[in-house]
Amino acid sequence: MNIHEYQGKEVLRQYGVSVPRGQVAFSVEEAVAAAEKLGTPVCVVKAQIHAGGRGKAGGVKVAKSIEDVRAYAEQLLGKVLVTHQTGPEGKVVKRLLIEEGCDIKKEYYIGLVLDRGTGRVTVMASEEGGMEIEEVAERTPEKIIKETVDPAIGLQAFQARRLAYAINIPNELVGKTVKFITALYTAFIDKDCSIAEINPLVVTGDGNVIALDAKLNFDANALFRHKDIQELRDLDEEDEKEIQASKFDLSYIALDGNIGCMVNGAGLAMATMDIIKYYGGEPANFLDVGGGATTEKVTEAFKIILSDEKVEGIFVNIFGGIMRCDVIANGVVEAARQLGLTKPLVVRLEGTNVELGKKILNESGLNIIAADSMADGARKIVQQVAV
Ligand code: ADP
Ligand code: MG
Repeated sequence: MNIHEYQGKEVLRQYGVSVPRGQVAFSVEEAVAAAEKLGTPVCVVKAQIHAGGRGKAGGVKVAKSIEDVRAYAEQLLGKVLVTHQTGPEGKVVKRLLIEEGCDIKKEYYIGLVLDRGTGRVTVMASEEGGMEIEEVAERTPEKIIKETVDPAIGLQAFQARRLAYAINIPNELVGKTVKFITALYTAFIDKDCSIAEINPLVVTGDGNVIALDAKLNFDANALFRHKDIQELRDLDEEDEKEIQASKFDLSYIALDGNIGCMVNGAGLAMATMDIIKYYGGEPANFLDVGGGATTEKVTEAFKIILSDEKVEGIFVNIFGGIMRCDVIANGVVEAARQLGLTKPLVVRLEGTNVELGKKILNESGLNIIAADSMADGARKIVQQVAV
């Protein structure tokens, strides 16, 4: 789960990570009041959306007066901000962070992730702050310094010190930087983060080390033990279809293509997307209905697929092991009845109760294109949406 920058900074502040003073604003009036309360000569008005790259896209404005704050807030609130991370459709700005202006001497990068290769938390640091870390990794990989953390003993002070020296933090600020990295690591572990990225980390004119940006992601499987973090969820930032799917405990991810997929098992769902692409099509979603799905859940899944207006055809690919083919067939028929299905539907069923499943589909009066194999089904649905 993703949260906003201002929320991330609030979480980090609780762990002693230094962040600028600031306040969230949902309206122009709130923005002005926040700036007055800060009382600093320079304020920064920052669009809060779940995407980076805001600076380059005009979503971070430096205001030298209260009038400036008002003008920038008016300009940003309600605006669709398109950054390289939002996709071409962009995101509507509904919240602003009004923050004290910072006298930046130099920008750095600090990021914590779980490295799947080593299975350990890795701290990455770079003196190329403020730019996309992916870009730095591409062009000057030697400028990214890494420390892998042993989970039994946690991040050690010498590792934080080594990072600070390696990215050329001024000598007199190494102590503050070590404290910063250590606090960030503690927050990461304590809150079950999957990512904690500070870009930029800055050294200020008055000799402080602070987080000017904060991106925190949390492991969804651990959210049950962090009620405070769960409360930070912003449904406005999430895909409507994915929210609906999560209510029914369905693993659904919206994609850009036009072939809706209903599959059981994450591996088969991945393979189904691959084979659709192999035959020249584009999947509209990833969906794993799971092993123990009921007819009701399958009906809901089918409705979610159909609620995506990009969908021009549906491929149902089921290998019934724990899942029974008749349950899937009933769910498909029920959803098609409720919604009046007009789009091509290709079904490949195999496994437990397959004959019963096929019978239910055959007798439903639905116009179903039967497939004998996964490849056959993929080929058929790609043909159908192409016409
Ligand atoms: P994004 O990563 O989405 O572009 P950032 O929060 O990193 O957004 O801001 C982009 C740039 O704006 C930063 O690299 C920094 O140069 C500047 N900036 C951000 N916040 C402040 C601030 N409080 N004071 C001064 N400059 C800031
Ligand atoms: Mg940033």
